[in-house]
Amino acid sequence: MGKKIIVAGLGHGGIAVAAILAKAGYDVTVYEQKSEGTLGYDWTDIFDPKSLAVAGIPMPPEDKYKIKEDMSFCGPCGNNMLKQHIPEAMKEIKMERKDIYAHLINHGLSCGVKIVYDCEVYGPIMAGDRVVGIKTAKGDFYGSMIIDACGCNSPVRCNLPRCLGVEGAIDNSQKILIYRAFYNKASDEPTDDVFKIILYAGGKPGINWVAAEEDYTDVLIGRFKEFDMADVEATIKNLMKKNPRLGSEVVRGGQFVEIPIRHTLSVPVADGYAAIGDSAFMPIPLVGSGMANAFRASRILADTIIADTEEKYTAETLWDYAVKYHKELGAGLATLECVRSTLLQLKPQDVEFIFENDIINDDDLTAFTSIADVKELEALGFKDIMGKVKRALRNKYLIGKLCGAGVNMAKIMYFAGKMPEKWDKEKVLAWAKKYDKAFK
Ligand SMILES: Cc1cc2nc3c(=O)[nH]c(=O)nc-3n(C[C@H](O)[C@H](O)[C@H](O)COP(=O)(O)OP(=O)(O)OC[C@H]3O[C@@H](n4cnc5c(N)ncnc54)[C@H](O)[C@@H]3O)c2cc1C
Repeated sequence: MGKKIIVAGLGHGGIAVAAILAKAGYDVTVYEQKSEGTLGYDWTDIFDPKSLAVAGIPMPPEDKYKIKEDMSFCGPCGNNMLKQHIPEAMKEIKMERKDIYAHLINHGLSCGVKIVYDCEVYGPIMAGDRVVGIKTAKGDFYGSMIIDACGCNSPVRCNLPRCLGVEGAIDNSQKILIYRAFYNKASDEPTDDVFKIILYAGGKPGINWVAAEEDYTDVLIGRFKEFDMADVEATIKNLMKKNPRLGSEVVRGGQFVEIPIRHTLSVPVADGYAAIGDSAFMPIPLVGSGMANAFRASRILADTIIADTEEKYTAETLWDYAVKYHKELGAGLATLECVRSTLLQLKPQDVEFIFENDIINDDDLTAFTSIADVKELEALGFKDIMGKVKRALRNKYLIGKLCGAGVNMAKIMYFAGKMPEKWDKEKVLAWAKKYDKAFK
């Protein structure tokens, strides 16, 4: 089939896999809708730097990042603070998103990746059941295979024929809607909890963070339903009461965005097609961090493509990518989707109850929220997810609220363990149907 690879969208996983393949001698072109130099948002991101090495990406220069502080967590009342305790070697780094992009793009270009900017991708070009190219604002482009790194609402994935088994558009219940902005610093009052996460702030289902930086306060408001600026302003006023450093003036950012927070696509491949990053729903379901997983996935996908020495790039040869990602990351993270949906069934007073009664402790939060690598869960003290559910169920108050959670989690873990190792379309689609249903 040849070695011409098309990457749709300059997502983090997309440029990472493009770089590995270009370095290995493939002819790789990325098609990106934005203009050169405009990628990313006007804010910082947090990710596990070890994931860069997995993808063969060098560490950025030291003056471009900081080590992320441990986060503190509380319920709606802001009391009963729990604190992460990430070991030094596992700490994540914080970096401006524009600098991350510049670093990745420079690396990609040095490996031989070609990038076409200002080129919106409209959808896939099909030849029977095989994806053979992409339709774009600059015309049709054909390749031996298409890597879809167009993000959560990818027009490539959404416009594939559904008979291929790759899931299309998802609804808002599977995304978290985010407002993020940096506000002015209203006072110099010191704070013990520099990076604070507040669950259900103001009684609204969702997650908020308030991070006190030297010159500004970084605020994120995440909800599972659409919300508007009036809601943002009310939330900021509410947050200001317990965070005296938070001012009311936006100095950077100030945008609404969305992140998929659900299990990874059960079928992320088809003939001539593989999805990566947010397009394959790789962010951690509870917190929405997706970069490290996208970098790790890029190595697995590139290795799978390179191992296909007959250059077939069919669902059969690409299925190894799906299986390896699932075993290394996807299956473990899927249980966190269950934790998220359970949390969503709770009322603000239930969340407060969990914090007050030590049902979740510092160790659990450390693991839930900062998973550098699923294999490191135990090192973080998170030993027994089913045990936690059982502990919560022993509590009379929560039993009615959480009775389905243990069963659901067991179902998810059961079907996660049944993923077919080899591609057999009928068997894979039958498994995917059962696995996906377990989350509903
Ligand atoms: C507010 C916010 C904060 C986040 N914070 C963190 C964090 O701290 N740490 C972390 O690990 N993750 C974070 N994430 C998630 C992280 O951004 C993603 O998981 C990660 O970027 C991987 O996504 P992606 O690169 O696949 O997709 P995206 O980042 O969505 O990139 C997709 C790319 O494809 C392009 N594109 C989309 N549609 C088209 C089209 N039709 N034609 C051509 N190009 C197209 C886009 O312009 C973009 O360049 C955050 C996300 C958001 C929104």
